[in-house]
Formats: sequence, C-alpha cells, structure tokens
Amino acid sequence: MQQIAVLLLALVTFAGDGSAEDKVHWAYSGEHGPEHWGDLSEAFAACKEGKSQSPIDIVDPIDVELAPIALSYRGSTTAVVNNGHTLQTDVGRDNTLEIDGKTFDLLQFHFHSPSEHRIDGESFPLEAHFVHRNERGELAVVAILFRLGDRNRAMATIVAAAPEKAETSKPLDENIASLEIVPENKAHYRYSGSLTTPPCTEGVLWLVLESIGSVSREQVANFVRIIGEDARGPQPLNGRRVVH
Ligand SMILES: [Zn+2]
Repeated sequence: MQQIAVLLLALVTFAGDGSAEDKVHWAYSGEHGPEHWGDLSEAFAACKEGKSQSPIDIVDPIDVELAPIALSYRGSTTAVVNNGHTLQTDVGRDNTLEIDGKTFDLLQFHFHSPSEHRIDGESFPLEAHFVHRNERGELAVVAILFRLGDRNRAMATIVAAAPEKAETSKPLDENIASLEIVPENKAHYRYSGSLTTPPCTEGVLWLVLESIGSVSREQVANFVRIIGEDARGPQPLNGRRVVH
C-alpha cells in the first residue's frame, strides 16, 4: 500500500556541525541564494539534484490517523546563537521526542520568516523548527507555523537575548520552557524530506504540527531586523505523499 510505503521513511545520517561544507558562503537571496545552492559546492549537490527536498506545500494529505507525537521537553535552554542564517536556541539534555518506538534528542530549535512550509498554498509569517537526532544519527524535525496575533512569550525571551552580530552566541539567563512554544494539540502532517539549508541532506523525517501558534507583528519584525528573511521556497513533491 502506498500509505505504508510513505511511512517507511529511510533516514540518513546527519552531516554534523563543523564539516567543510559549513564554510561555503550561502544566503537567501542573490548569487548565493537558494536557486544557486546546488552549484556553490559539490557537498550541496542534493539542493538541486535531490528528489525529496524540503520545505513543501502541504496539499491533500492522506488521512491515516497518525498517533500524536510524544514530546517531553524537561531540559533547559542554554544559549541563543545568531549563526548568520537564523536565531538558534541551544538546549541541554532531557528534551526528547518519541516516535515509531524510537527516542530522539532535541539538539536545538530555530526560526524562519516567512514560513518555509505552506498549507494549501498559504504562507505564514514565522515557522519554528525543533531539530532532533536519535542515537543512529537519524533526524526528525517538528515544525510549528505561526499566525499574527498575541505576542509569544518564549519568542520574546529569545529575541531579547539574541546577539545582533552574526556568528556570536549569548547565554540565556532565563530558561525557556521549550514546550511553551509547542501547541497542545500534537496532530501533525508527516512526510520524508531534507534539511532546508545547505547541504540539503535528505532522509529527514518532517512532522509539521496542524495547530498554528501565535506571534505578534512586532516580534516577527524584530526577528527579520536581526536575521533578514530566511525561508527556502517550496520544493517539488516528486511523488511523495503527506500523511496525517
Ligand atoms: Zn529550519
């Protein structure tokens, strides 16, 4: 059955931090923008040749009654990093995701504005990515989309602590309850995709929450003032199906 095939996601090992490809300059516009990523380095070939790239526009998902994901974020947040591409919050241990009988540890979470994923063609002002890895090196990312509305308390703490200068990091004085960012309802869309930044490595399990979070216009503006817009556009499905 097609649904079953979709669920049997092949996951690959994450190309970790500090590898050579991290040194190649890439950006979200101009000569080093997304349409050129695949040509900037051989290590980025998947960005143009990959057939299971992320993000995507989620249209007509197949209803297979997925079990909700189990997040247990009990650990601390330690620092906010401005890596020149996004604001990333580093975390301590004891933050886990359980899915398919596997345990993944939260590595970090970060933001994109506007959103990278779309739902029925609709783009959102902000998207959070909670990046997890299991002991086999497989990656699973929980994505949360945000609409304009009430201010998001956790986002306020992150932006207030954010270093303005790229490639710098600041310790977080106030611990952010990471779960505060995550909506209560864990119904989600699921598909097999890739990192949305170079090297665009495939085999990433994507879990996009159906519940939409809230963020204020000012918070989005503050994020964009520090980082700029940092969203890759939707990629072709190439026969992939999204389930939920
Ligand atoms: Zn991301």
